[in-house]
Amino acid sequence: MIVLLNSSITEDSKEYQLTINYLSQLPNVTTRIHKVQGAEQVLTEIYLIGDTSKLFAEDIHALPGVERVIRVSEEYRILGRHKDEQRISGFEYNGVQFSQDTLNIFAGLCAVDTPEHVEQMLKALRDHGQVCTRMGAYKPRTNPYSFQGHGKSCLPYVFELAGRYGIKVIAMEVTHENHVDEIHECLEQASQPTGVMLQIGTRNTQNFELLKAVGRQQEYPVLFKRGFGITLNESLNAAEYLASEGNSRVVFCLRGVKTNMGDPHRNLVDFSHVPVLKRLTRMPVCIDPSHSVGSRESAPDGIFDLMHVTAQGIISGANMVLIDFHPAPTKALVDGPQAMLLSELSWFLDDVALARACYEKRQILAEQHKAR
Ligand code: PEP
Ligand code: MN
Repeated sequence: MIVLLNSSITEDSKEYQLTINYLSQLPNVTTRIHKVQGAEQVLTEIYLIGDTSKLFAEDIHALPGVERVIRVSEEYRILGRHKDEQRISGFEYNGVQFSQDTLNIFAGLCAVDTPEHVEQMLKALRDHGQVCTRMGAYKPRTNPYSFQGHGKSCLPYVFELAGRYGIKVIAMEVTHENHVDEIHECLEQASQPTGVMLQIGTRNTQNFELLKAVGRQQEYPVLFKRGFGITLNESLNAAEYLASEGNSRVVFCLRGVKTNMGDPHRNLVDFSHVPVLKRLTRMPVCIDPSHSVGSRESAPDGIFDLMHVTAQGIISGANMVLIDFHPAPTKALVDGPQAMLLSELSWFLDDVALARACYEKRQILAEQHKAR
């Protein structure tokens, strides 16, 4: 059960104290207080965990300062939608909006290799009006002898160049909680030229200790990849670890699932789950065509599979696209064969805009049908 307080109630008010005292004395129920940053104010949500089945929502609603009471299922209490359309969803980070209504493109390097490639990438993005990118510094690799990413040594030039080219948010995977501190220290030393969205990779979807650590910090939002070999429900429960520790600024990313049934794609593309995620949760939904498809193959129409699946995700309402680009894919140290070229960036962005316009028209059509 979630108890939402009126926005005017402050922690030192009498109403707040009375209500918290009452709730914390309920038998077999523990309370957890979450502050939710809305567009204009901070809202307080109190989570009642435990034996809430015998509680009457009307009794709780009658407590001082309570605006609404929502009964939630056991699963993904914070990130879930729970058939409630009024709760805040989405967030702003470093001037960029993320919600189930927006669309942000994160084109960039799978892995940082040289400062020159980082600069060429960022310059191309700036020239195309883009303010987000992906840049991997810590790479989780199948083979221990493969390039593992430059780690913290590349952060100073990546952040400095990002600032120079007007990049506001970089999606960057972390595989250990120390990486969050390294990113934080480096951003501080450089006086915050850009922002970072911490990426949890598919190999760490159920690394619960990493999730708890990343969930405890609230400075950086999180891009959470679906686990490649577990059910959607298991991935959603894992994402909830972030929120249950205090960080609910989470974007959920579909990146395909591992099965030979997806051959010849690297993974079985799962973007049909975009509307499912929007129905079940309040998270913005990202698609990762690069790690789903894994190649630059194209159909006889000349359009890359990568672009076809991107359009399929966007036409269903995806809110973010994470895609590998590289100025010289043959020199890339990770995932070169699936990278798109900088000369293909405007084609890609135009194709994205077409698919988005189509989605918006589909929304209008659905509304017209409902009004009939
Ligand atoms: C990545 O985005 O660089 C990556 C390794 O993706 P995933 O965790 O989905 O394999
Ligand atoms: Mn990759």
